[in-house]
Amino acid sequence: MKIKPQVDAAMAEVLDNAAFINGAPVQQFTKALQDYLGVKHVIPCANGTDALQIAMMALDLKPGDEVITPSFTFIATAEVIAMLHLKPVFVDVDPQTFCLDPVQVEKAITPKTKAIVPVHLYGHSAEMEAIMEISRKYNIPVIEDNAQAIGGHYTFSDGTTQKLGAIGQIGCTSFFPSKNLGCYGDGGAIFTNDDELAGKLRMIANHGQSARYYHDVVGVNSRLDTLQAVVLNVKLPLLDEYIKARRAVADAYDAGFAGIPQITTPYRADNSYHVYHQYTLQLNGADRNALQQYLQERQVPAMIYYPVPAHRQKMFENFGGAEFNLPVTDNLTTKVISLPIHTEMDADQLQHIIDSVKSFLNQNSK
Ligand SMILES: *Cc1c(COP(=O)(O)O)cnc(C)c1O
Repeated sequence: MKIKPQVDAAMAEVLDNAAFINGAPVQQFTKALQDYLGVKHVIPCANGTDALQIAMMALDLKPGDEVITPSFTFIATAEVIAMLHLKPVFVDVDPQTFCLDPVQVEKAITPKTKAIVPVHLYGHSAEMEAIMEISRKYNIPVIEDNAQAIGGHYTFSDGTTQKLGAIGQIGCTSFFPSKNLGCYGDGGAIFTNDDELAGKLRMIANHGQSARYYHDVVGVNSRLDTLQAVVLNVKLPLLDEYIKARRAVADAYDAGFAGIPQITTPYRADNSYHVYHQYTLQLNGADRNALQQYLQERQVPAMIYYPVPAHRQKMFENFGGAEFNLPVTDNLTTKVISLPIHTEMDADQLQHIIDSVKSFLNQNSK
């Protein structure tokens, strides 16, 4: 899919108009993303971390309020909680989906719990029906961290389907270049169906401004550049095709690794349309470092997302991080390895990767 000519032309137009901030492409993208996700409001912002921070600021939480989140995630999810002087309450994940375990979420709720932040890790949905039931039962808002699963969807038991990020009170995403919908730098967005929350989110992202130079609340400066919106306007109509290409790669990997006892291929729940931001294997007994090294020697960049869970990061030492008991998370961080997955992979590359993993396992089987 060659998008360069289109991007070049649209960028040249921005340069000619010098409409670098809040140019027409930003509004155009905002509207297009609203339609794509089926949400009432999209608030574009500077990156996915800001999106999460602004979302939490809009909930009017008080220092010490508790926010439930997985530890098995990119650090940003937990970092913004601490940054706002809230308490991250780390909850274990489901061993199959790698996403928040609803049973553990409910157990972790206290009178101070003021938000639940599920992460749709690697592109697979968290168990949103159960999480939204808990949200309603305890009247606690849900902020979906959808940085890794834009375009994915979830099917409820009544058969209705919703796009990820559009299910909770607020959804957040990132357009970092390596994400499934990536721009050519940093970018992010916040979604909601709630008019009042939308107003607050918009105001906070823009210096807490209600009218020009009238600032009602403490906010931040977080905008999506016009040049980034230009790229996203070209790529959003292609997102579903990009996802299909990723799913085809995942299917080929699944078939290539079928029946190998040292490998568990990624789980796909029937109710989750997986968008494979990552294709992540679990190794059963095989030496992960040695495999990574072996693949590296064969020009296959395999990655570990994430070698250290959030609760064991030095950052959270003073937040009682190590006191959380998260056996599934701890186990997964020693076993997962992600293979290359992107939209331009050809059959030869794929076969080379599958063969390399298999030959390592054959040589090193006990
Ligand atoms: C990438 C990512 C973020 C942060 O997005 P940035 O745009 O890099 O700030 C947050 N959460 C998750 C799960 C991510 O993967």
